[in-house]
Amino acid sequence: MDIRTRFAPSPTGSLHIGGIRTALYCYAWAKKNSGKFIVRIEDTDQTRFVEGATEEVFEMLNAYGLNPDESMNNGGDYGPYIQSQRKDIYLKYAEELIKKGYAYYCFLEPEELKILQEATRGTGFRSKYRDQDIETSKKMVDEGKPYVIRLKVPENETIIYKDGVQGSIKFDTNLVNDEILIKSNGFGSYHLAVVVDDHLMKVSHVFRAVEWLPSTPKQILLYRYLGWEMPPFYHVSAILDPSGGKLSKRKGSVSAKGFLQDGYLPEAMLNFLMLLGWSSPEKREFGEKEREIYSLEEFVELFDVKDFNKSNPVFNREKLTWFNKEYFKIKTNAELKESFINWFKEYSEDIDLSNYILQDYDLEEKIGLVKERATTLMEILEQIKFFYKSPKDIDWNIKQTQNTIEIISDLKKDFVEMFTGFADNSKEWKHEDWEPRMRSIGDKYSKKHGDIFMVLRMAIVGSPFSPPLFESMQLLGKNEVLKRLTA
Ligand code: GLU
Repeated sequence: MDIRTRFAPSPTGSLHIGGIRTALYCYAWAKKNSGKFIVRIEDTDQTRFVEGATEEVFEMLNAYGLNPDESMNNGGDYGPYIQSQRKDIYLKYAEELIKKGYAYYCFLEPEELKILQEATRGTGFRSKYRDQDIETSKKMVDEGKPYVIRLKVPENETIIYKDGVQGSIKFDTNLVNDEILIKSNGFGSYHLAVVVDDHLMKVSHVFRAVEWLPSTPKQILLYRYLGWEMPPFYHVSAILDPSGGKLSKRKGSVSAKGFLQDGYLPEAMLNFLMLLGWSSPEKREFGEKEREIYSLEEFVELFDVKDFNKSNPVFNREKLTWFNKEYFKIKTNAELKESFINWFKEYSEDIDLSNYILQDYDLEEKIGLVKERATTLMEILEQIKFFYKSPKDIDWNIKQTQNTIEIISDLKKDFVEMFTGFADNSKEWKHEDWEPRMRSIGDKYSKKHGDIFMVLRMAIVGSPFSPPLFESMQLLGKNEVLKRLTA
């Protein structure tokens, strides 16, 4: 069997990070089996359509390295790959269902509908047109009466279904609504479209979030009534917020783009996400620690649907940060610089710095100085900013400069005098040479060397925190150091 998976987002807003996890599973299963990974845009709900959301889906899949084999952008044999262009296909199948007696025209007026929906809340919604004879209904359609087409859900049946992740599940059809298949504007509904498309696009495995489980009985019925074999479904776990419930915006980003903007590396994100819902089958020897670092290629190799976890994972932001830092460590400075530049060009708002940063020959070294202290690419930027912008309005009234506050201007004079004596070509501007001189200045005032260096740090960086000061000053160059000391 050809393995074909699909990721089917609706363009109703920014792509949620959970969508990247679903796409990752779809991608991995297809790649592992030399199959095809399809992206289908499910825009049947035109009222919720958000401008730009479709573009963002593809932009994000590309940024995370999950490009599809078939989609509206790169084509394929089973298109169109966007549901709004498949309207006629759905109508044809809905009419077939009517003919077979598995669907019906429904002419409820908006007011009637509202009342009925209220009355049947919690039980299966049934319309009074359910059993109206087809001739009468056809006549009403011809007369131009507005209608929808609804699924005729059978009474008193227990649908038993085996989910690839959630196990055996029972649905009581008396609680399942006579769902709309064709809306009043002639568009297919999600329920019909998803079944028709998965079938016509020859999808072999359906991976989607467990939130979609309640829609499954309707889709099972549609497969049955259309006489099609249903592919195995895998409803992957829900991603929970540490404070309970759905992943919440209050604590930070939730969109795929948001995390990239924040400066997380896509490869670190993928690694973090793959483990929210899947466990590696790798055997561990006694006492051996669980392996957590997997590249996308390694994941594709190892991934198997039998290793999905049923329990809902918590989205632990500290753990994500840990992954990001691990990837900072794994990367060489040159690789990290490349990631940083890509991020900076795409997401940074500090455009005033772009000329400096993009033309900086020492950028790699600067990143090397901060990479152990930064947790995101954004923090790298924050920590190297001082190289490009001299500090303004320095606040000397902080505890770190309390012991030296009265001698700051004397110290600055001494520093300037001392540094002026050094040559300014980069070969002779070496921190090893100034260090003993710095210490003698400290001794002159009988102050701790740490306190003396802090004054220098404040004058150069503007903050009591910085990457290693002397290396930083070396990269800044003599002239810039003197400029900042005399400012
Ligand atoms: N279109 C649905 C969504 O926005 C996906 C449903 C499915 O995968 O069946 O997530």
